[in-house]
Amino acid sequence: MRIDVLSLFPEMYKGVLEHSILKKAADNGAFTCRITDFRQYADNKHQRVDDYTYGGGAGMLLMPQPIFDAVEAVTKDTGTKPRIIMMTPQGTRYNQRYAEELAKEDHLIFLCGHYEGFDERIRQSLVTDEISIGDYVLTGGELASMVVMDSVIRLLPGVLGNEVSAHTDSFSNGLLEHPQYTRPADFRGMKVPDVLLSGNHKLIEEWRHKESLRRTLMRRPDLLENRILTDKEKEWLQE
Ligand code: SAM
Repeated sequence: MRIDVLSLFPEMYKGVLEHSILKKAADNGAFTCRITDFRQYADNKHQRVDDYTYGGGAGMLLMPQPIFDAVEAVTKDTGTKPRIIMMTPQGTRYNQRYAEELAKEDHLIFLCGHYEGFDERIRQSLVTDEISIGDYVLTGGELASMVVMDSVIRLLPGVLGNEVSAHTDSFSNGLLEHPQYTRPADFRGMKVPDVLLSGNHKLIEEWRHKESLRRTLMRRPDLLENRILTDKEKEWLQE
């Protein structure tokens, strides 16, 4: 996968891309990432990228010219049909399904806003997606784009050591993940459930499924709203 990020603060990405799983994934060639400071595409003397809003009002807005030119530059000769993603609190609320969809793409371009955000013509004529990471407002799109990038990159083939773990994570099968334990089996009197020590894989699977369902009902009942429950699952939820 190829990822381009258009940002006024490229340095912010260092901490995320140069450590741990993402670094390893980049080193192994699972993705390449180029961060472009779109200020360099501003065609005015002082390299301004923002200006006052027509009609008045507080704050500055990102102008279309540097962003259109930067996108044209990073897509030139790539031969890809990228998803051009605007980070905005007004966008579609991001979730695991969205991450899975983006992980199938060859090329993603993230547009990170600042100040009051983007001139409307960028939204209308350039972007393919508008993504919000939640109902709150950040100062800029960098952190939001890193959240999306991280969640997509970990789904790329070969990135997680054990690919099964991505499939059992919360949301992948529409449920929250079941409780998990590691050593010791007894910590200050708090014991690991017997079934997990039993070695009986069928029983362990059943317990996990049941706990996953119960936990989802307790914490995120909205996730169950459109789910067709099996008879067994209905029985578990009655217990
Ligand atoms: N005036 C804009 C509005 O009310 O929709 C908010 C602009 S915000 C201060 C500056 C930038 O931060 C946005 O252009 C966007 O790129 C990013 N941003 C802020 N909150 C975000 C969120 N919840 N999800 C994604 N991006 C966000």
